[in-house]
Amino acid sequence: MNRIYLDNASTTPINSEVLSEMLPYFSSIYGNPNSLHSFGRDAKAGVDKARDRIANAIGCQPNEIFFTSGATEANNWALRGIAYANAHKGKHIITSKIEHPSILETCKQLEKEGFKVTYLDVDKFGFVRLDKLLHYISSDTILISIMTANNEIGTIQNIQAISNIAKEKNVLFHTDATQAIGAVRLNVKDMDIDLMSFSSHKINGPKGVGALYVKKGVMIDKIIFGGEQESGLRAGTLNTPAIVGFGKAVELATRDIIANAKKVSSLRNYFIRELENKIEMVYLNGHSIQRLPNNASISFGMVDGESIMFLLDMEGIAVSTGSACSSGSTKPSYVLEAIGLPADLVQGTVRFSLSKSTTKEEIDFVVEKLEEIVKRLRKISPITKAQVGKIKGDM
Ligand SMILES: *Cc1c(COP(=O)(O)O)cnc(C)c1O
Repeated sequence: MNRIYLDNASTTPINSEVLSEMLPYFSSIYGNPNSLHSFGRDAKAGVDKARDRIANAIGCQPNEIFFTSGATEANNWALRGIAYANAHKGKHIITSKIEHPSILETCKQLEKEGFKVTYLDVDKFGFVRLDKLLHYISSDTILISIMTANNEIGTIQNIQAISNIAKEKNVLFHTDATQAIGAVRLNVKDMDIDLMSFSSHKINGPKGVGALYVKKGVMIDKIIFGGEQESGLRAGTLNTPAIVGFGKAVELATRDIIANAKKVSSLRNYFIRELENKIEMVYLNGHSIQRLPNNASISFGMVDGESIMFLLDMEGIAVSTGSACSSGSTKPSYVLEAIGLPADLVQGTVRFSLSKSTTKEEIDFVVEKLEEIVKRLRKISPITKAQVGKIKGDM
């Protein structure tokens, strides 16, 4: 069976150019990049090149990039590191209700440690309301953390406007750009961003590596203690092959950003149109234009999203309900709840995330299978057509 992968927001395969740059670093160039001999220098040259490529891609200096084990660690570090380093100035942090769990769970932990966190509501498209943001900033506020693009519904925030507000109020601004890098142009200098997290495996790089950009002059405490790696701020021997691959992946993802976005979004738009034409009660979540080019978060009336996912899986088609991080649990998606989606549609939501190698043939096949599956499931639906979109509260 030819399988079809429409779950690129969860993870992506390694690009072949990325892999071939990585390979020598597993075997022949195996030195510790922090060693002072030639073996170490050879490995360090690979790390330096990756750091330069990433700095170049986001418009910062190489010494403002700190490698981590992924965006989860980068997010943990940004929040805790800034909170601890600035606790003498204030103890208030502002974030949103639709952030990734690596932000929300870290915030919960910080609350236990005596910090105060405001979780901003979003509108029906998933946009943070700027008037609310302004309203909650006080003299106690030390950090605003708002993701650039949402992993479930694809909404791209007005990051420049949020950054402007942070600057005007003299508050540090962090953004989780994990889904946005390679999809949205991001220049941290032009946009005046203080901290930014991102990850390699969402952009055709290897898993288990990511980075935190920290603007020069921003004071941040370390949260991983040990050796003097990464300017003494993030201990642990560098994962050289992964870092080398990450650097190449960032270079590739940001180089052809406009062309890739155009290609992927036109196929994604075709997919949505086909669904809307061929299946009744199909609703797109998020904003129709200001969204990730590869994301189609779709709610189907009178069906259960998880059932769709399992039936598609039997056809070799991979999609997800909510986010990979929360599926496996049967808890409804907090992101879909935050945009005010009625409970039955939250339950009926599937996230399709395309890649630049997704083909029209694949999309046509998926639409055909979805028509059959949705028809089948609606026959046994416990809710009626009249109830669709009207059910409030948990299901
Ligand atoms: C995937 C993802 C993360 C976590 O990244 P890892 O590198 O897998 O830890 C964080 N934030 C967002 C928005 C993501 O999509």
